[in-house]
Amino acid sequence: MRPKKTPLRMCAGCGEMKPKKELVRVVKAPQKESESGASLPPEISLDLTGKRPGRGAYLCRDAQCLKLAKKSRRLERAFSCKIPEEVYARLEEEIAGAARKEALEEQAKPSVPLDGNGQPIIEIDVPEEALPRGKGGGHGG
Ligand SMILES: [Zn+2]
Repeated sequence: MRPKKTPLRMCAGCGEMKPKKELVRVVKAPQKESESGASLPPEISLDLTGKRPGRGAYLCRDAQCLKLAKKSRRLERAFSCKIPEEVYARLEEEIAGAARKEALEEQAKPSVPLDGNGQPIIEIDVPEEALPRGKGGGHGG
């Protein structure tokens, strides 16, 4: 038994259960009504913080899963509203952007080995010339 349980969420695209942090939350903002009484189109966007209010669904950070979710209308069912084509297009861009950012951050991480205290172990190669020479040594012997 593991001491800490990883919260799992289902991807609305492929339907796989995955750890929450591996998924991206799609949120539908609470619907506002315009003054004329007509309901505005639903505001659906990626929620990278996972803290936005509204109804949420989860997707892998993969445009392919968004396409699957679109095809199966699982997102529409999750939000119980129709999702316009342009919203899907925007979500796809945002997912691609988030995935790219993630990849960049992964690359930017320094691959420094850590010691037992979580401190990075940095080995510095000191060039021999920089070392102080002992007295009496050197050339001309
Ligand atoms: Zn998926």
